[in-house]
Amino acid sequence: MLTKKLSTLHSFLLLASRRAGHLARQQYDVIVVGGGHAGAEAAAAAARMGAETLLVTQKIHTIGVLSCNPSLGGIGKGHLVKEIDALDGLCGRAGDWAGIYFSILNRKKGPAVWGPRAQLDRQRYREFIQAELLGTPRLTVLEGSVEELQVTEPNPEEPGHHRVTGIRLANGSHQISARSVVLTTGTFLSGSLFMGQTTSPGGRIGDAPSSAGLSYTLQERLGLRVGRLRTGTPPRIVKDSVDFSLVEPHLPDKHPTPFSFLNTHVRCKPEEQLLCYLTCTTPGVERVVRESLHLNCHIQQDTKGPRYCPSIESRVLRFPGRAHQVWLEPEGVNSDLLYPQGLSMTMPPDMQLLLIREIPGMQRAEIHTPGYGVQYDFVCPTQLSPALQVKSTQGLFLAGQINGTTGYEEAAAQGLWAGVNAARWALSMPPLALSRTESYIGVLIDDLISRGVTEPYRMFTSRAEFRASLRPDNADLRLTLKGFEEVGCVSSLRYQEAVRVRDSLQEALAALQTLTLSAPNWTKKLPNIRISEVKTTSLTGVDLLQYRDVSFEMLASAFPECLSRFTEFSQRLKIEAVYRFHCELQKKEIERIQKEENMALPQDIDYFSLPVSLSQEVREILDRFRPSTLGAATRLQGITPAAIVNLLQYVYHTG
Ligand code: FAD
Repeated sequence: MLTKKLSTLHSFLLLASRRAGHLARQQYDVIVVGGGHAGAEAAAAAARMGAETLLVTQKIHTIGVLSCNPSLGGIGKGHLVKEIDALDGLCGRAGDWAGIYFSILNRKKGPAVWGPRAQLDRQRYREFIQAELLGTPRLTVLEGSVEELQVTEPNPEEPGHHRVTGIRLANGSHQISARSVVLTTGTFLSGSLFMGQTTSPGGRIGDAPSSAGLSYTLQERLGLRVGRLRTGTPPRIVKDSVDFSLVEPHLPDKHPTPFSFLNTHVRCKPEEQLLCYLTCTTPGVERVVRESLHLNCHIQQDTKGPRYCPSIESRVLRFPGRAHQVWLEPEGVNSDLLYPQGLSMTMPPDMQLLLIREIPGMQRAEIHTPGYGVQYDFVCPTQLSPALQVKSTQGLFLAGQINGTTGYEEAAAQGLWAGVNAARWALSMPPLALSRTESYIGVLIDDLISRGVTEPYRMFTSRAEFRASLRPDNADLRLTLKGFEEVGCVSSLRYQEAVRVRDSLQEALAALQTLTLSAPNWTKKLPNIRISEVKTTSLTGVDLLQYRDVSFEMLASAFPECLSRFTEFSQRLKIEAVYRFHCELQKKEIERIQKEENMALPQDIDYFSLPVSLSQEVREILDRFRPSTLGAATRLQGITPAAIVNLLQYVYHTG
């Protein structure tokens, strides 16, 4: 079915682009600005919620483009992909369709921190996202550039508060109304590109920046605090020019693991997966970096660069004398190019060529497209609510790189949640928040809105306090049921599957729990297992499954009558058993935080006159960040436990 969709994609694109200026309606529930990773998920989620949605993006054929690395997932990021999929988002299924090298990172550690990851075929990924969006009911896609947001003047009863009413397109006065707008402009807001000593306006190579009018609306009309961030991308290398005898091949997993809970296998056959290669920098690389410094204005402005995707220039300057890893990654099944991960750079193109030729295997390498840097505006995310709505502007939602994050997965996760809430706002439903106790998406949003960013934010498993519970394997149980029953963004097909899985797991765990035997009797049943620690006490099947050498399949072959029908869930049951104890321990802490999350702090509190004992410094922090709940207040830097106790009393007395 998908193949048919993709084959008609071209005609769809023509049809859709012709729609510009001939829109069937001039009024939508939700308008999403930008068709990157945040915008695609936002538009699809809003339409799934039942809102008439318009996606406006500069170029329809760049919807779903991977601006930088051709990969999805990884440590922490893989969790986000699984959660987006559990909420019926697009990127997990797109990854399964476009993946050409699948691997689970961090395998040596526990399954809670495994990182599902895939190298992607760029073209297939983009085509999948475009086909999905163009085939989504209630979603119209329009090619155009948004010049300005339409907003009301501040309400005299609520000084400083605006309401968004729509957008105005560039090149003319075409205006389209909406009850809510989601801005996902990525690296395009006042974007400038850097290469050598040249700077030019742009959001990405080949693409113009977002118009100055949009920045003006955000800063001057809405009074939002805006900052500037930077990132960069490596040159793309001609595959045939690399000497593969001098680099180390790395194999993918033998059995690719799908991202999506709806898929049992991925499109690419295991044996058709491509290879990645590892090489590393030499002292010659460091020499070229130093020799070209005076020609490199991006690095001159800030030698540190972004911490989580640093350029080769900043890596070499910060850690001189070291050999830095360079991964050569395939860009697609029919692509002649390789992506050299670790070699993001902004020096002039002739110096880029000199640099890569100092690397083993790349002495004769050719560059197809040089690397470059980008600087762009982001909106300080502490000005957003947990629904990703701008606190001072009703109906305006922000998601993705515009909120100071980096990465497709972080963008897609915010996009989905902003799309859900923009639709809820438009359909007069109350906003919803995801807690950091139930999802990595909740952690991401809570970190952004309560702590803000000083450098591009990316997800890591260490950011999630409850990572034993927030595992990639159980994202469907955590979010699909809620997504259908409470949120409204999940299809009934996906919901029914999640219910089947939940019921089967519960049944299987109950069956394992009833299998209670003494240690010697277990040893008789499973002679290969040594149960040395507990000789006298009896053990249940769940206890036994926690042993490193015991698999569910072993138990099922010993007790086929009660367990064999659950072998489909062998790995999930093993993981459930292993984490049972940790999750039980975390339960109380989770309940405490959930209680605090439910204690809302009114957004119009005057913290300076609040009649409770708070230091001036604490009052200033609370006034600046305006946490929406007591939980969010506890995570603000500089807020003391004593201040929280006093705030708690205030909430009790007023609420
Ligand atoms: P984007 O994917 O940037 O999408 C924005 C979309 O909005 C585009 O489709 C654009 O056309 C559209 N748009 C913008 N303004 C308007 C307007 N006014 N009207 C209509 N449409 C508009 N990520 C990493 O994780 N690691 C890296 O090393 C890395 N390096 C990068 C290097 C470069 C040079 C670039 C450009 C990006 C890099 N990224 C990197 C970032 C990665 O591309 C983003 O994190 C991700 O794409 C963000 O998704 P997004 O949806 O927020 O924005």
